[in-house]
Amino acid sequence: MVTREIRVKGILSKSKVYDWVINPYVGCQYGCTYCYARFMKRFTGHSEPWGQFVDVKVNAPELLLKELRQKQKGEIWMSGVCDPYQPLEEKYQIIKSCLEILSQYDWPVVIQTKSPIVLRDLPIFKRFSHIDVGFSIGTGSESIRELFEPNAPPISSRIEALRMLHSNDVRTYVMVAPALPEVVSLVPLLRGIVDYVLVDKMNYHYADWVFKRYGLNRVEDVAFLSDLFKVYDIPCEVVC
Ligand code: SF4
Repeated sequence: MVTREIRVKGILSKSKVYDWVINPYVGCQYGCTYCYARFMKRFTGHSEPWGQFVDVKVNAPELLLKELRQKQKGEIWMSGVCDPYQPLEEKYQIIKSCLEILSQYDWPVVIQTKSPIVLRDLPIFKRFSHIDVGFSIGTGSESIRELFEPNAPPISSRIEALRMLHSNDVRTYVMVAPALPEVVSLVPLLRGIVDYVLVDKMNYHYADWVFKRYGLNRVEDVAFLSDLFKVYDIPCEVVC
């Protein structure tokens, strides 16, 4: 794993998904097989494969403080092309520092991660008037997860983190993206621990080789998931 500390010129970027997005890192230690963010590599000068390098935006908090005073208040997504709570966050605490600042200005925030490290910041979440904390989970099967996301935290640890957040009155969600084989087994696991579910129907073609190698079928049509989540009283929206 190659890690570099970098200083960037901006941190609050316009987003098509929410109003703004903050990416505290370039690269992601989890290196999921289907990750669409690997296109970022061509802007970095890194020769290592996706998942083997991370640039740490060490000046993100100071930039954020400046930009919050200049830009129009809106909902901020953390993060679009990296996991904000990948293991390096334990050392660098970039997202933690950004959240400390955002809580003072009370900008609405949507967090999306695969990492239970997010629980570290529970005391900060409680200071926000509007914050959603979500986990990406595409299947209920740990063996399927290991094929597609071998370096990401186990599903059980994500479920436990959701339970902890939800029981502490934090608004929680799950982003099913991509829907992986055995996604149906995920549905009952989320009962009572999420406020809503989003299902992304984008085609994550980078993982085509995984489907082929292990003889797995794609989940082509995700519309049925919406009805299935309803059975468990979980609001579900299919997006994109
Ligand atoms: S955790 Fe998200 S950003 Fe990181 S490699 Fe996996 S899909 Fe990509």
